Amino acid sequence: MAKVLFLGGLGRSGTTLVERLLGELPGVCALGEIVHLWQRDVRDDERCGCGVRFSACDFWDAVGERAFGGWHQVDVYRVLALQNAVERTRYIPRLAASRLPEEHVALIEEYAGYYAAIYEAAAAISGAEVVVDSSKHSALAHCLRWWPGLDLRVVHVVRDARGVAYSWTKTVVRPEAEVPAEMTRYSPARSALLWNAHNAAFALLARRGIPVRRIRYEEFVADPRTGLLDLAAFAGLDITVADLKFIDGEEAELRPSHSAAGNPMRFSVGRVPLRRDEAWREALPPVQRRLVGTVCAPLLTAYGYPLRNRSSR
Ligand SMILES: [Zn+2]
Repeated sequence: MAKVLFLGGLGRSGTTLVERLLGELPGVCALGEIVHLWQRDVRDDERCGCGVRFSACDFWDAVGERAFGGWHQVDVYRVLALQNAVERTRYIPRLAASRLPEEHVALIEEYAGYYAAIYEAAAAISGAEVVVDSSKHSALAHCLRWWPGLDLRVVHVVRDARGVAYSWTKTVVRPEAEVPAEMTRYSPARSALLWNAHNAAFALLARRGIPVRRIRYEEFVADPRTGLLDLAAFAGLDITVADLKFIDGEEAELRPSHSAAGNPMRFSVGRVPLRRDEAWREALPPVQRRLVGTVCAPLLTAYGYPLRNRSSR
């Protein structure tokens, strides 16, 4: 069974960039945000990272065939009902328990089984040692924990809550939808609360014995080569600097991927900049910056972020 590297964290924390860079490493197959695959791809046939519709992508066609005997065999509404029944952020305290009623475990296992089948098939078809699921949702990682025999390793990507909050206020178009749509937006107060809840959930996962490696997005982007070598070691991959030639200074050369769902950055191909996005330092109004800083102060401090904003200039 392949190892599963799960990228977790609150959205807008840089997980898509981390996923794309990991996907360039030999022995790695990056799958995108599988949590959204059921609805956006299997049901709505949105576009794969390679540019074609999900149903027209040879890679995902082969994965569906091997995992389920074809995607038409998957009852998407059953998967979504299970998701609703077991994989909610508010269920995390329950999911993190050491024991659960048998009937609840059965539902979690049924749900996790769909993911395990995809991981196994994707690894077999790509020949990868490690598959990357960048679903981000800690609740899903907590569900996967219950699947017997899954080699689950979690990379917890954190980014300064004030940068995350600013990013959630921006309008981002979802190019993969049939009718151009926008990604969800949150107020800084709302995203600050989500930032706390989602990040805290990964500490619970570590307490249940799942290997969790926390990385700070800002540090990773400042030195992606070191960051990738570190993550490769965490994933049990034998990578050397010779495998990192696709990173050149502040740019990376990306090939097309089959990232199934997620941030529009999954469509980026060719040279992409690797620069810290520090726009929030100037653009997030001081009153909101202070609000987010106050709400998130305990974890910001725990993760090593200075509470007082120093101007980048
Ligand atoms: Zn594809």
